[in-house]
Amino acid sequence: MPNRLFYDSHMHTPLCKHAFGEPEAYADRAIQAGLKGIIFTCHSPMPRGFWPHVRMSIKEFPEYVRIVDRAAKAYEGKLDIRLGMESDFFPGFEEWIAELHTMAKFHYCLGSVHWQGQDYKARYETGSVEDFIATYFRLLAESAETGLFDCLAHPDLVKNYKPECWDFEAIRPIVAESLDRIAKTGVAMELNTSGLNKRYAAMNPGPEMLAMMAERGIPVVIGSDAHVAQRVGDRFRLAINHLKAAGYSTVRVYEERWPHVMRLDEIERTLLRQATELGNTSVEAA
Ligand SMILES: [Zn+2]
Ligand SMILES: [Zn+2]
Repeated sequence: MPNRLFYDSHMHTPLCKHAFGEPEAYADRAIQAGLKGIIFTCHSPMPRGFWPHVRMSIKEFPEYVRIVDRAAKAYEGKLDIRLGMESDFFPGFEEWIAELHTMAKFHYCLGSVHWQGQDYKARYETGSVEDFIATYFRLLAESAETGLFDCLAHPDLVKNYKPECWDFEAIRPIVAESLDRIAKTGVAMELNTSGLNKRYAAMNPGPEMLAMMAERGIPVVIGSDAHVAQRVGDRFRLAINHLKAAGYSTVRVYEERWPHVMRLDEIERTLLRQATELGNTSVEAA
Protein backbone atom coordinates (compact mmCIF):
# COMPACT_ATOMS: atom_id res chain seq x y z
CA MET A 1 0.00 0.00 0.00
CA PRO A 2 2.86 2.41 -0.77
CA ASN A 3 0.82 5.26 -2.18
CA ARG A 4 -2.03 5.04 0.24
CA LEU A 5 -2.24 6.65 3.65
CA PHE A 6 -5.77 7.32 4.84
CA TYR A 7 -8.65 5.38 6.36
CA ASP A 8 -12.43 5.48 6.20
CA SER A 9 -13.44 5.06 9.85
CA HIS A 10 -17.19 4.44 9.61
CA MET A 11 -19.05 1.73 7.65
CA HIS A 12 -21.55 -1.07 8.09
CA THR A 13 -22.28 -4.73 7.32
CA PRO A 14 -25.53 -6.51 6.33
CA LEU A 15 -25.91 -7.67 9.94
CA CYS A 16 -27.57 -4.32 10.82
CA LYS A 17 -30.40 -5.20 8.37
CA HIS A 18 -30.19 -1.87 6.50
CA ALA A 19 -26.73 -2.08 4.87
CA PHE A 20 -25.85 -4.06 1.76
CA GLY A 21 -22.82 -6.04 0.59
CA GLU A 22 -20.16 -8.14 2.24
CA PRO A 23 -17.10 -6.55 3.88
CA GLU A 24 -14.98 -7.68 0.90
CA ALA A 25 -17.00 -5.43 -1.45
CA TYR A 26 -16.31 -2.45 0.84
CA ALA A 27 -12.62 -3.41 0.84
CA ASP A 28 -12.45 -3.46 -2.98
CA ARG A 29 -14.05 -0.04 -3.14
CA ALA A 30 -11.63 1.32 -0.49
CA ILE A 31 -8.63 0.32 -2.62
CA GLN A 32 -10.17 2.07 -5.65
CA ALA A 33 -10.74 5.17 -3.53
CA GLY A 34 -7.04 5.33 -2.64
CA LEU A 35 -7.42 4.33 1.03
CA LYS A 36 -4.92 2.39 3.10
CA GLY A 37 -7.54 0.93 5.38
CA ILE A 38 -11.11 0.82 6.64
CA ILE A 39 -12.78 0.39 10.00
CA PHE A 40 -16.08 -1.46 10.22
CA THR A 41 -18.36 0.17 12.80
CA CYS A 42 -21.66 -1.63 12.55
CA HIS A 43 -24.58 -0.78 14.83
CA SER A 44 -24.21 -2.18 18.34
CA PRO A 45 -26.36 -5.06 19.49
CA MET A 46 -28.62 -3.86 22.31
CA PRO A 47 -30.53 -5.77 25.00
CA ARG A 48 -34.27 -5.69 25.80
CA GLY A 49 -35.46 -5.23 22.21
CA PHE A 50 -33.99 -1.74 21.87
CA TRP A 51 -34.82 -0.63 18.28
CA PRO A 52 -34.04 -4.19 17.06
CA HIS A 53 -34.71 -3.94 13.31
CA VAL A 54 -31.67 -1.69 12.61
CA ARG A 55 -28.94 -3.73 14.32
CA MET A 56 -27.42 -7.17 14.82
CA SER A 57 -28.79 -9.23 17.69
CA ILE A 58 -26.51 -10.09 20.61
CA LYS A 59 -26.43 -13.67 19.26
CA GLU A 60 -25.13 -12.36 15.92
CA PHE A 61 -22.21 -10.48 17.47
CA PRO A 62 -19.69 -13.36 17.01
CA GLU A 63 -20.72 -13.48 13.34
CA TYR A 64 -19.86 -9.76 13.02
CA VAL A 65 -16.39 -10.31 14.47
CA ARG A 66 -15.97 -13.34 12.20
CA ILE A 67 -16.82 -11.63 8.89
CA VAL A 68 -14.63 -8.59 9.61
CA ASP A 69 -11.78 -10.91 10.59
CA ARG A 70 -12.36 -12.97 7.43
CA ALA A 71 -12.01 -9.85 5.27
CA ALA A 72 -8.98 -8.63 7.25
CA LYS A 73 -7.17 -11.92 6.57
CA ALA A 74 -8.18 -12.02 2.89
CA TYR A 75 -6.84 -8.47 2.29
CA GLU A 76 -3.64 -8.75 4.32
CA GLY A 77 -0.93 -6.72 2.57
CA LYS A 78 -3.53 -5.02 0.34
CA LEU A 79 -5.78 -3.17 2.76
CA ASP A 80 -5.74 -2.74 6.53
CA ILE A 81 -9.17 -3.80 7.84
CA ARG A 82 -10.04 -3.05 11.46
CA LEU A 83 -12.89 -3.96 13.78
CA GLY A 84 -14.90 -1.18 15.37
CA MET A 85 -18.41 -0.55 16.67
CA GLU A 86 -21.02 2.20 16.40
CA SER A 87 -22.61 2.02 19.84
CA ASP A 88 -25.86 3.71 20.78
CA PHE A 89 -25.76 6.13 23.67
CA PHE A 90 -29.07 6.05 25.52
CA PRO A 91 -29.12 6.73 29.28
CA GLY A 92 -29.65 3.46 31.15
CA PHE A 93 -27.64 1.34 28.71
CA GLU A 94 -24.13 2.50 29.70
CA GLU A 95 -23.27 -0.72 31.54
CA TRP A 96 -24.20 -2.81 28.53
CA ILE A 97 -22.06 -0.66 26.20
CA ALA A 98 -19.12 -0.91 28.60
CA GLU A 99 -19.47 -4.70 28.57
CA LEU A 100 -19.91 -4.84 24.79
CA HIS A 101 -16.67 -2.91 24.29
CA THR A 102 -14.79 -5.67 26.15
CA MET A 103 -16.30 -8.47 24.05
CA ALA A 104 -13.79 -8.15 21.18
CA LYS A 105 -10.51 -6.41 20.38
CA PHE A 106 -11.94 -3.20 18.98
CA HIS A 107 -9.79 -0.60 17.29
CA TYR A 108 -12.39 2.13 17.49
CA CYS A 109 -15.70 2.73 19.29
CA LEU A 110 -18.04 5.41 17.99
CA GLY A 111 -20.80 6.73 20.22
CA SER A 112 -24.08 7.73 18.60
CA VAL A 113 -27.11 9.63 19.78
CA HIS A 114 -29.76 8.34 17.37
CA TRP A 115 -32.78 10.58 17.85
CA GLN A 116 -34.71 8.54 15.24
CA GLY A 117 -35.16 5.50 17.51
CA GLN A 118 -38.65 4.75 18.83
CA ASP A 119 -37.29 4.41 22.36
CA TYR A 120 -35.54 7.78 22.07
CA LYS A 121 -38.62 9.56 20.73
CA ALA A 122 -40.91 7.95 23.30
CA ARG A 123 -38.72 9.34 26.08
CA TYR A 124 -37.66 12.73 24.70
CA GLU A 125 -40.24 13.92 22.14
CA THR A 126 -42.25 15.67 24.81
CA GLY A 127 -41.93 19.40 24.14
CA SER A 128 -41.09 21.82 21.36
CA VAL A 129 -38.67 21.25 18.48
CA GLU A 130 -36.21 23.51 20.34
CA ASP A 131 -36.47 21.27 23.43
CA PHE A 132 -35.86 18.19 21.31
CA ILE A 133 -32.74 19.77 19.79
CA ALA A 134 -31.47 20.97 23.20
CA THR A 135 -31.93 17.46 24.63
CA TYR A 136 -29.94 16.00 21.74
CA PHE A 137 -26.95 18.30 22.37
CA ARG A 138 -27.14 17.66 26.13
CA LEU A 139 -27.03 13.88 25.51
CA LEU A 140 -24.17 14.35 23.04
CA ALA A 141 -22.11 15.96 25.84
CA GLU A 142 -23.20 13.25 28.30
CA SER A 143 -22.09 10.55 25.85
CA ALA A 144 -18.59 12.07 25.74
CA GLU A 145 -18.47 12.30 29.53
CA THR A 146 -19.16 8.57 29.97
CA GLY A 147 -15.64 7.80 28.70
CA LEU A 148 -17.09 4.88 26.71
CA PHE A 149 -16.33 6.26 23.26
CA ASP A 150 -13.34 7.32 21.17
CA CYS A 151 -15.41 9.60 18.96
CA LEU A 152 -18.96 10.95 18.63
CA ALA A 153 -20.64 10.01 15.34
CA HIS A 154 -22.48 12.50 13.05
CA PRO A 155 -22.72 15.03 15.90
CA ASP A 156 -25.48 17.27 14.50
CA LEU A 157 -27.69 14.47 13.17
CA VAL A 158 -30.70 16.08 14.85
CA LYS A 159 -30.84 18.70 12.07
CA ASN A 160 -32.74 16.04 10.10
CA TYR A 161 -35.52 15.90 12.71
CA LYS A 162 -37.40 18.91 11.32
CA PRO A 163 -35.02 20.15 8.63
CA GLU A 164 -37.23 23.16 7.89
CA CYS A 165 -36.84 24.29 11.54
CA TRP A 166 -33.04 23.96 11.69
CA ASP A 167 -31.67 27.44 12.49
CA PHE A 168 -28.06 27.20 13.57
CA GLU A 169 -27.77 30.78 14.83
CA ALA A 170 -30.75 30.24 17.13
CA ILE A 171 -29.15 27.21 18.79
CA ARG A 172 -25.52 28.36 18.70
CA PRO A 173 -25.40 28.87 22.53
CA ILE A 174 -26.74 25.33 23.12
CA VAL A 175 -24.14 23.88 20.75
CA ALA A 176 -21.39 25.97 22.41
CA GLU A 177 -22.28 24.64 25.86
CA SER A 178 -22.27 21.06 24.57
CA LEU A 179 -18.91 21.52 22.79
CA ASP A 180 -17.36 23.10 25.91
CA ARG A 181 -18.22 19.94 27.85
CA ILE A 182 -17.02 17.63 25.05
CA ALA A 183 -13.71 19.51 24.66
CA LYS A 184 -12.90 18.81 28.33
CA THR A 185 -13.19 15.04 27.78
CA GLY A 186 -10.67 14.74 24.93
CA VAL A 187 -13.14 12.66 22.92
CA ALA A 188 -12.99 13.19 19.13
CA MET A 189 -15.92 14.12 16.92
CA GLU A 190 -16.72 12.80 13.47
CA LEU A 191 -17.05 14.60 10.17
CA ASN A 192 -19.56 12.29 8.48
CA THR A 193 -19.97 12.67 4.72
CA SER A 194 -23.25 10.73 4.50
CA GLY A 195 -25.18 13.79 5.67
CA LEU A 196 -25.10 15.05 2.08
CA ASN A 197 -27.59 12.26 1.25
CA LYS A 198 -29.93 12.97 4.17
CA ARG A 199 -33.05 15.15 4.42
CA TYR A 200 -31.00 18.14 5.58
CA ALA A 201 -28.40 17.71 2.84
CA ALA A 202 -25.10 18.74 4.45
CA MET A 203 -22.26 16.92 6.13
CA ASN A 204 -22.59 16.16 9.84
CA PRO A 205 -21.56 18.51 11.35
CA GLY A 206 -22.02 21.55 9.14
CA PRO A 207 -19.42 24.31 8.67
CA GLU A 208 -20.49 26.55 11.61
CA MET A 209 -20.28 23.75 14.16
CA LEU A 210 -17.04 22.43 12.64
CA ALA A 211 -15.48 25.88 13.14
CA MET A 212 -16.64 25.91 16.78
CA MET A 213 -15.08 22.47 17.27
CA ALA A 214 -11.80 23.75 15.79
CA GLU A 215 -11.80 26.76 18.14
CA ARG A 216 -12.00 24.34 21.08
CA GLY A 217 -9.30 22.02 19.73
CA ILE A 218 -11.66 19.05 19.44
CA PRO A 219 -10.03 16.34 17.26
CA VAL A 220 -11.88 15.05 14.18
CA VAL A 221 -12.20 11.64 12.52
CA ILE A 222 -13.56 11.37 8.94
CA GLY A 223 -16.10 8.68 8.09
CA SER A 224 -18.38 7.92 5.13
CA ASP A 225 -20.96 5.95 7.16
CA ALA A 226 -21.25 3.70 4.09
CA HIS A 227 -24.23 1.34 4.07
CA VAL A 228 -23.35 0.32 0.48
CA ALA A 229 -19.84 -0.42 -0.81
CA GLN A 230 -19.96 2.37 -3.42
CA ARG A 231 -19.95 5.00 -0.67
CA VAL A 232 -16.62 4.00 0.95
CA GLY A 233 -14.36 7.07 0.92
CA ASP A 234 -17.21 9.13 -0.50
CA ARG A 235 -16.45 12.87 -0.80
CA PHE A 236 -13.39 12.74 1.42
CA ARG A 237 -11.64 15.50 -0.55
CA LEU A 238 -14.64 17.74 0.01
CA ALA A 239 -14.51 16.82 3.71
CA ILE A 240 -10.85 17.84 3.80
CA ASN A 241 -11.74 21.19 2.24
CA HIS A 242 -14.42 21.73 4.90
CA LEU A 243 -11.91 20.90 7.63
CA LYS A 244 -9.30 23.30 6.27
CA ALA A 245 -11.89 26.07 5.99
CA ALA A 246 -12.83 25.46 9.64
CA GLY A 247 -9.19 25.78 10.72
CA TYR A 248 -8.08 22.14 10.94
CA SER A 249 -4.73 20.84 9.65
CA THR A 250 -4.91 17.27 11.03
CA VAL A 251 -7.38 14.43 11.66
CA ARG A 252 -7.26 11.21 13.63
CA VAL A 253 -7.44 7.51 12.79
CA TYR A 254 -7.74 4.98 15.63
CA GLU A 255 -5.76 1.79 16.12
CA GLU A 256 -6.32 -0.35 19.21
CA ARG A 257 -8.40 2.56 20.50
CA TRP A 258 -5.39 4.84 20.33
CA PRO A 259 -5.37 7.95 18.11
CA HIS A 260 -2.91 8.44 15.26
CA VAL A 261 -2.68 11.98 13.94
CA MET A 262 -2.49 12.53 10.18
CA ARG A 263 -1.89 15.73 8.26
CA LEU A 264 -4.68 16.82 5.92
CA ASP A 265 -2.30 18.02 3.18
CA GLU A 266 -0.57 14.62 3.11
CA ILE A 267 -3.87 12.74 3.01
CA GLU A 268 -5.06 14.97 0.21
CA ARG A 269 -1.91 14.31 -1.82
CA THR A 270 -2.33 10.52 -1.57
CA LEU A 271 -6.01 10.67 -2.52
CA LEU A 272 -5.24 12.95 -5.47
CA ARG A 273 -2.37 10.77 -6.68
CA GLN A 274 -4.55 7.69 -6.54
CA ALA A 275 -7.29 9.44 -8.50
CA THR A 276 -4.77 10.54 -11.13
CA GLU A 277 -3.19 7.08 -11.42
CA LEU A 278 -6.54 5.46 -11.95
CA GLY A 279 -7.78 8.24 -14.23
CA ASN A 280 -10.67 7.78 -11.91
CA THR A 281 -13.68 10.00 -12.32
CA SER A 282 -15.51 8.15 -9.55
CA VAL A 283 -13.17 9.75 -6.99
CA GLU A 284 -15.05 12.98 -7.14
CA ALA A 285 -13.52 16.37 -7.68
CA ALA A 286 -13.44 18.38 -4.48
ZN1 LIG B 1 -27.16 2.56 9.84
ZN1 LIG C 1 -25.30 6.41 13.18
